[in-house]
Amino acid sequence: MMTADDSRLHDLSLTLSAGQPLPATAEAWLAGLPGPVMLRYPGVDRTRVRALVTLLHGNEPSGLRAIHGWLSGAAAAPPPATDLVLIIANVAAARLPPRYNHRQLPNERDLNRCFRAPWQDGPGQLAQAILSALVALGPEAVLDLHNTSGASPPFAVAAIDDARHRAFAARFCDHLIVTDLRLGALMEAAEHLFPTLTIECGGSGDPRADAMAATVISRFADSPALFAAQPATDTLTVFRNPVRVELAPGASLSFDPSEVADVMLRTDIQQHNFGLALPGVALASLGRDGLGHLVARDHRGRPVLTELFEARAGTLTPRQPLHLFMATARADIAASDCLFYVAPAQQQH
Ligand SMILES: [Zn+2]
Repeated sequence: MMTADDSRLHDLSLTLSAGQPLPATAEAWLAGLPGPVMLRYPGVDRTRVRALVTLLHGNEPSGLRAIHGWLSGAAAAPPPATDLVLIIANVAAARLPPRYNHRQLPNERDLNRCFRAPWQDGPGQLAQAILSALVALGPEAVLDLHNTSGASPPFAVAAIDDARHRAFAARFCDHLIVTDLRLGALMEAAEHLFPTLTIECGGSGDPRADAMAATVISRFADSPALFAAQPATDTLTVFRNPVRVELAPGASLSFDPSEVADVMLRTDIQQHNFGLALPGVALASLGRDGLGHLVARDHRGRPVLTELFEARAGTLTPRQPLHLFMATARADIAASDCLFYVAPAQQQH
């Protein structure tokens, strides 16, 4: 259960400006935090503020490590272009042993599904506190740093597709996913409040993802104009409305070829992340009910499984060239969230 201290934002700005030294590691810092925290770091232009949010998911530590590294070096570095507000959210889930293993506390809602009413429970109260702090600040941009649960190249996700979000994303990544699906994620604030971008830095535990998060925070802090057009915008590949492929309720999933289940995902499924899976490629072995234990709906809720996939010789294979994203090797996450996302190759633009 989340306690009252776990579901409110503690302001660390004063402690920071008092010059109290930061613990040597992100993990020691995490252990001593009073709960979810926000802190404001002064920039060159004090009339503008940008906000970086991370650790909405307790098993995604790259953003926390990047903030710790950035703060450790900040005193000796030039100040950021604008004021920078840093928010570290699901401290309770990250700290619960084994550390960095829980997306959220057991029996609590996913915090990144709580940025809309109802707000009654602990995660709802924390999401509301974060959102009202952001609204009070009026940031020119909000960046939400995550890790994917499987190995993946970094990519950006946005709720709306416009020139500002494209320029914002191109500053950090080559790929942008735009989704019309509304789940209560922080990035949906882009619709009415401020430009908001999610960056998936790469897989949890991958040192390259930690390095990416460090690059993201320094570019976010240092760029004088985040939305200025830049040559990289032309090379950004945008995917619209990828389809979630999920396990049907009650179906069984395995990554172990010797273990019989309704869906047996290939152990190397993550190698397809951001690649193109062609018809004939086996993504999974299927039990005797074939495609019957899989569900794929587009963002309007229309079933599209058999448009995108077919069962061939007991395996799941694309019916048309498909880009795959966010495949994971963790059976619990694949079963409870989704197996992966796909976008037909000809839809990209
Ligand atoms: Zn996440």
